[in-house]
Amino acid sequence: MADLHALFERAAHEAADFRASLHERPVQAPAGQSVVRSRLAVPLPEGPRDAGEVVEQLIDAAQPGLMSTPGPRYFGFVIGGALPAASAADILAVGWDQCAFNGHLAPAAAAAEDVAGAWLKDLLGLPASAGVGFVTGAQAANTVGLAAARHHLLRQAGWDVERRGLAGAPQIRVLAGAERHATIDRSLRLLGLGSDALAEVAVDAQGAIDTDDLRRVLSTEPTDEAHPSVLCLQAGNVNTGAVDDLRTACTIAREHGTWVHVDGAFGLWAAASAARRHLVDGVELADSWGCDGHKWLNVPYDSGFAFCSRPDVQTAAMSYTASYLTGSGTAPGAADYTAESSRRARGFAVWAALQELGRQGVADLVDRCSDHARRCADALTTAGLEVVNDVVLNQVLVGFGGEGSEADRRTDAVISLIQQDGTCWMGGTTWRGRRLMRIAVSNHLTTAADIDLSVEAVLRAVRSLDD
Ligand SMILES: *Cc1c(COP(=O)(O)O)cnc(C)c1O
Repeated sequence: MADLHALFERAAHEAADFRASLHERPVQAPAGQSVVRSRLAVPLPEGPRDAGEVVEQLIDAAQPGLMSTPGPRYFGFVIGGALPAASAADILAVGWDQCAFNGHLAPAAAAAEDVAGAWLKDLLGLPASAGVGFVTGAQAANTVGLAAARHHLLRQAGWDVERRGLAGAPQIRVLAGAERHATIDRSLRLLGLGSDALAEVAVDAQGAIDTDDLRRVLSTEPTDEAHPSVLCLQAGNVNTGAVDDLRTACTIAREHGTWVHVDGAFGLWAAASAARRHLVDGVELADSWGCDGHKWLNVPYDSGFAFCSRPDVQTAAMSYTASYLTGSGTAPGAADYTAESSRRARGFAVWAALQELGRQGVADLVDRCSDHARRCADALTTAGLEVVNDVVLNQVLVGFGGEGSEADRRTDAVISLIQQDGTCWMGGTTWRGRRLMRIAVSNHLTTAADIDLSVEAVLRAVRSLDD
């Protein structure tokens, strides 16, 4: 059997080598899934193998299929990039192998989540008394927030949903903007509320909710305790970065007793920056919030936060107990705030990221990424390309030559050339019926020089298409 020290050092060394290579290697992985699959698809051995050999084989097989997503010029999705101390803390979390179910089973893990959770609420401008659950990401956080809404609204209507289920329960109406994130719809499906419960609210040109239309939709049906409703707002549209007018929308919702959930996967981080805090003005008026750690906070995957203004409601919706689970059923533990039972100790990496950055570092990260997005948009506009969105945060939408199917094909062709070129990676999207290129800047490593190199790569792709 391989020496454990040597084995762990080998793994950590390999991971650090990969990170160190991110500035130079092509952003797009040289090999695709099928290539790596054929390297990994060795026979399942009949008996044990040497751990060191197994790890060597894994490294060798996986290498060509590694994307430079943690690198400075990956602008697809909203990816982030793991900070050094946060990455090391996650390596420790794996090595220590704590099960963050509760403070009896994992005192250190629970303590880290407790402390980091309080810092998160402070930085995000949320009430200090809110409940926090450490989840896999914003999808899970939205599900927890909406489960809390379901519990609270139905209890007010005299219905115990945890006991009786939804059959025969008052129908909960769900209001959400037409440009909500698709994870909201999946949460509704998982919670048995169903996508038919959705009453869509119109949005403006940037995808932010139209509060006049919100008033209109709310008043089309009675909304009181017997006719419960929940409003899903968004801080940070994945295409434009637009943030809903949270203060106005929350104020309207409150008049109707409507629960407000804010999906703030990345946009909630605007609250940490003095220069951009105004974008999420009124965020504290909502009832529940979902946010990611692995996107803009630059914590390694997977890391998200489910906040609820009423911890008692959050735990009433989520907790469970069993006689063998020491400590459960007394004071709520970590597992009572999420839909997960046994899990990795996610708090170590969050604690480390926040210590590594400090309050100013988090603000600088948000501001720097947003400034880079602006720099990128300005350079592309100067070069004659069309920036379609108002660049308020870290998202830029770019058009290549007007509208229609010909322009759409051209856009997809440019994106594909950029990805093959390897300097940077940008993805495509369909926004308001048009194919566009999306740029999301959310990595602490990205510099102005990375933006300039990437702009050059975009212009190179456009030229090579025209030749
Ligand atoms: C990314 C994102 C989600 C989903 O988050 P995961 O971390 O992938 O679960 C939800 N809402 C918005 C606005 C997002 O950007």
